[in-house]
Amino acid sequence: MPGLYIHVPFCARKCAYCDFYSVPLNAAAAEEYLRALDRECGGLPDGFAPETVFIGGGTPTVLPPAELARLLDLLARRVNLGRVTEWTCEANPVTLDAEKIRILRGAGVNRVSLGVQSFDDGVLKFLGRLHTAREAVEAFRLLRAEGFDNIGLDLMCAVPGGAIERDLERALALGPEHLSVYGLTFEDGTPLARRRDAGEVAELDEDEQLRQFRVVRETLKGAGFHHYEISNYARPGRECRHNLLYWGPGEYLGLGPAAHSHWGGQRWGNPRRLEDWAAGAPREFDETLDPEARAREALVFGLRRLDGVGRARFRAETGFDYHALRGEEIAWLARLGMLEEEGGCLRLTEKGLAVSNAVFAELV
Ligand code: SF4
Repeated sequence: MPGLYIHVPFCARKCAYCDFYSVPLNAAAAEEYLRALDRECGGLPDGFAPETVFIGGGTPTVLPPAELARLLDLLARRVNLGRVTEWTCEANPVTLDAEKIRILRGAGVNRVSLGVQSFDDGVLKFLGRLHTAREAVEAFRLLRAEGFDNIGLDLMCAVPGGAIERDLERALALGPEHLSVYGLTFEDGTPLARRRDAGEVAELDEDEQLRQFRVVRETLKGAGFHHYEISNYARPGRECRHNLLYWGPGEYLGLGPAAHSHWGGQRWGNPRRLEDWAAGAPREFDETLDPEARAREALVFGLRRLDGVGRARFRAETGFDYHALRGEEIAWLARLGMLEEEGGCLRLTEKGLAVSNAVFAELV
C-alpha cells in the first residue's frame, strides 16, 4: 500500500546544523505554497489511495491555524484518504498550541513526531533550536491532553557538550510511543560546519559516537522499545509505517518543493526552491533505475531494518539473489563481523549497525 509525503517548506528560523530545504514563512509565500499544492494534488494518479500520510518539513506547525486548516482541508478534498491508517505530522514544540493540535486531530492526523533534539537548554541553544526543554515537555503534555496516543520524539546524539544519557532519561519519563535518535552531522554550508572550520567547535571522535550509539540502543531496548531501524525505536506495534515504506519495497508519492517520490519503478525529486516548484519547473532528477540497480538499492535500504533482508523474499521482489549480486562483498563483510546470515536472512550485526554507512558503501 502506498504512502503520501507532503513537504511544508517553512521554518521559523534555520537551525545551525540543518541543510534541509526551508524558507521563512510569510503570508504571500504560504498562499503561493497552498495554491501550488492544490494544483500538484490534481496530478496524483487515478485511484491513488495512500495508507500512510506524512506531513513533514520544514516545520508544518509553523503555519498559522487558518493555513494549517487549509492545508488539511485541501488534502481531504483532493486525495482519497479513505484507506489511511497512519497520518503523521511533524511538529516543533514552540509552534504548537491547543488550537493547532485540535485542528490536526479534527482532520484525522493520528500521530505526531515532535522535534525535541535535547532536554538541555545549552545544547538547544548550540543547535540553534528555538524552543527550550520546558517548552518541549509542555508541547508533549498538551498533545497527550488533547488525545494523541501515538507520539514520537526526535533526539540527537553525538552533540558536543551534550549528555545523551540524561536526554534519554528525560524522554523516557514522558512515555512516548516512538523515539528517533540521529547523530549530529556537520553538513557543509551550515553555520555549524562553518564554526567547525573556524576551529570553534569539534566533532566528537568516532569512539565516542559509537559509545553513544550503544548507550541509546541498550537504554531503549532495556526500556522495552523495539529497535527496528538503525536510528528508530518503537513500542511494539508503534513502528512508523510510513517510514518503513522508505526502507522496504514500498512506493510513495511526495508533494511540495524538494519532495521525493518512488513510484512505478521511477524515482524523482521535485524542484527544491518554493518559487521553482510553484512555477512548475522541471524535476530536480527523474530516473528509471535498471532492475539490477533497483535490487542493489533494495538490499541497502532493506538492511537498514533490524529484521534484515530475507533471501527468498528479496528474490521474489527484485528477481535477484543477493549473493549473485554482491556475494563477494557480503562474504567479506561477514568475515569482518559486520553482516550475518541466519535462517535465510541477511542482517547487520551489532558491530555493523554502529558503522552502517561504511557497510552500505561496500554494497551499493
Ligand atoms: S526546524 Fe527542522 S527543518 Fe527547520 S531548520 Fe530546524 S532542523 Fe531544519
